Order: sequence, then structure tokens, then C-alpha cells
Amino acid sequence: MIERNKGFSNLSAGYLFPEVAKRRKAYQAAHPDAKIISLGIGNTTEPLTPHIAKAMVDYASSLATKEGYSGYGDEQGLSELRKKIADVLYPNIISAEEIFVSDGAKCDIARIQTLFGSSTKIAVQDPAYPVYVDGSVIVGAAGADNGQDGHSGVTYLPCTADNDFFPDLSVIQDNTLIYFCSPNNPTGAASSREQLKKLVDFAKKKGCIIIYDSAYFAFIRDEKIPHTIYEIEGAKECAIEINSFSKLAGFTGVRLGWSVVPKELKFADGTSVHADWNRVMTTLFNGASNIAQRGGLAALDEEGRKETRGLVDYYLENAKIMKEALTGSNFANAGVKVYYTGDSPYLWVHFPGWKSWDIFDKILDKCRVVTTPGSGFGPSGESYLRFSCFGHREDVEEACRRLKTFTL
Ligand SMILES: *Cc1c(COP(=O)(O)O)cnc(C)c1O
Repeated sequence: MIERNKGFSNLSAGYLFPEVAKRRKAYQAAHPDAKIISLGIGNTTEPLTPHIAKAMVDYASSLATKEGYSGYGDEQGLSELRKKIADVLYPNIISAEEIFVSDGAKCDIARIQTLFGSSTKIAVQDPAYPVYVDGSVIVGAAGADNGQDGHSGVTYLPCTADNDFFPDLSVIQDNTLIYFCSPNNPTGAASSREQLKKLVDFAKKKGCIIIYDSAYFAFIRDEKIPHTIYEIEGAKECAIEINSFSKLAGFTGVRLGWSVVPKELKFADGTSVHADWNRVMTTLFNGASNIAQRGGLAALDEEGRKETRGLVDYYLENAKIMKEALTGSNFANAGVKVYYTGDSPYLWVHFPGWKSWDIFDKILDKCRVVTTPGSGFGPSGESYLRFSCFGHREDVEEACRRLKTFTL
């Protein structure tokens, strides 16, 4: 018999979202008439916008004609789309050849693991999107579960209210792969230019590479906050950016993302990271859907930009409504604190004295509202809940009505 990949036995017990779904299902079974509202999973809910959808419909129709049909395209993506992403989102910083179009950011994060292999040291923000650590565990780079919500081969970087959700970098060893997400899932914190400069300077000095997950850049409304790590001088020598149309244009189901690998980025032996990433993408990937790529092109032209701005504004308005409800006197009197600056889809809410799963259960029971327990994102998430603003307005308003009349 074939030995099991040790990485799988090293994975921590449950993936967070299946456990949330299990508790929701159990509650519904016990209360068949309850109308449960989810402010939990970070999935988009609003329809595709007309201009972007039309571009995909038209292209799909043309595929049914002799003249319009196309098979495999370039694995790195349509050159027109690579150029559009570079010109619109990274003007004068990044070239089209440094953009690799993909089937989504999560898939790129998984493929990144093949680029660095199992002997690379890993550091992650704590709390963090679970894929960074779990993906590293599967390829053997993160070590075994240390029995305390962590893995032996990972340096956890606590991000808490006390440090403005920006970690103490000094605990990171030389030559470490640093996963960094801003605006952050789950804390909602969007790092400032000064903070990102600290990160880039540190990485350059210590021989680290930053994997910068920028999936929520479209939610940034504070003009002082960088939309990409490459706004920081020196980032091209130390950072890969992972990005996505999922939260920008509601493409969670359509599937389209991209990574940026600058040509300046080098491994210890002086070889090009860009060249190896090109090899990974052309060998292990066969190109993003050509229909989705037409949607991506439309999302980045003038009309599409107007539409995606409106789409994201809708979710940001939901967040505002939720913030108002969660800062009501019933919560404030119990010491509950809401962390939300208006630059992300997530409200990060502290319930002092509560375990995350206990307050999750209580709010499910009393308000029939599903949230996400902060502890599922890492040990520093304990006592927090993440509230997601992805939802239909009427559901968000109903959830807020219930939350306002609830007392802890
Ligand atoms: C939603 C999300 C993504 C997007 O992933 P896709 O695979 O492109 O849908 C990436 N990173 C984070 C932190 C996310 O929350």
C-alpha cells in the first residue's frame, strides 16, 4: 500500500467553515421555522453587473461560431488582459509580462507552495486566511500541529488591537516566506503606507519574500492607503502579489485572478523567481477560462470600473449599517468593541470574556444570525467574531434589527 502524504495527517482538525455549516444545520434542524441569516462566509451575493456580464455572454456566443471559436490560449493569460491589468492597476510600476492570469487567488496561493517547496520557513499574520498555513502543511513546509492552535514550522505574528493589527516583525527569522494580507481577512485592517514600508524594508534586509494577498484592494476608500504593495519602493525585489476578480467584480463563481511576479525578484542562488513561476504556470496550469477573461477585460474598462465601484459600494454600505447596529448600547454596555475602518468587507468584533465559539452559538441561538468565530483564523482571533458584509440589503437590515434588541 502507498504511504499517506504526511502533510495531511499534520493538518489541524477541522477546517473552519464546515464546522460553522454543521452548527447552522443542527440549529435549523432543531428550529425548522427559524429564518437564519448568514453574516458568515466571505462569499459575494449580488448579481454580476450588466456590462461585464454582456461581455461574457457575447464571447460565449461567438465560441459557437467558426470564426469566433478558440481552444487553449496562453497559459499566462490573454496578452490583452495582462496588459490591461498592468496599465489600469499598476500604471508605470508593473509590466504585462509580470502579470500571470489565473483561475483565482486561492489556486495561486496553492501553486505558490510548489514554487518554494517544503524546506522554506513560513510566517503568517495571526489571525489569517486559513489557506496560507493549511497549504503549507500539505506540502510539508509547516510542520506538525503543535497542539496549541499552531504548527511547529510556522512563525505566527499576532495582530491585535494593541498593535493596530500590524505585527511585530522582529520575531521573523531570515529567509522566511511571509504571507501578508491587506485589507485583511479576517480583521478588516488595511495597512498604511508607513506600515507597508516597514514590511518591505524588513523583508529586503532579511532575505524574506512577501506573498502579498490583495484580494480586497477594491474596498479601500481611504486615499492614503496603498492599493498594491508595489506602491512601496523596493517591493519589486521582495514581493509577489496575489489578486482576484472575486471580491472586485463578484467573480467568486466565475473564477478569475492574477499574480504579479516582478522580474527583479531572485532566489538565493540569483536565479529568477519570475522564470520559475512561468514554468509552474505553463506546466501545472492550462490557462484561465477564456470567457472569464473577457469578463475581466470588461471589468477593467471605463464602464466596468464604474460598475464594480458601485458593487463594492453596496457592500460597504452594508458594513456601515452593521457597524451602527454592533456599536449600539446593548453591545457597548457589555464592553463589546467593533474594529472597522471602512476599507474592507469585514467587521472584527471583540467580545471580552467570551470564547469565540460560545458567542457564535449565543448569537445563532438568540438572533438566528451566523457569524464566523475569530479563533478559527488563529489563536489571536480568540474572543472575536468576524461579521461579513456580503449579503442582500434586506437580510443585513433584518439581521441588524435582531442584533439591536439582543442583550448579552
Ligand atoms: C476571497 C479571498 C481570496 C479570493 O480567492 P479566489 O480564489 O480568487 O476566489 C483570496 N484571499 C483572501 C484572503 C480571500 O478572502
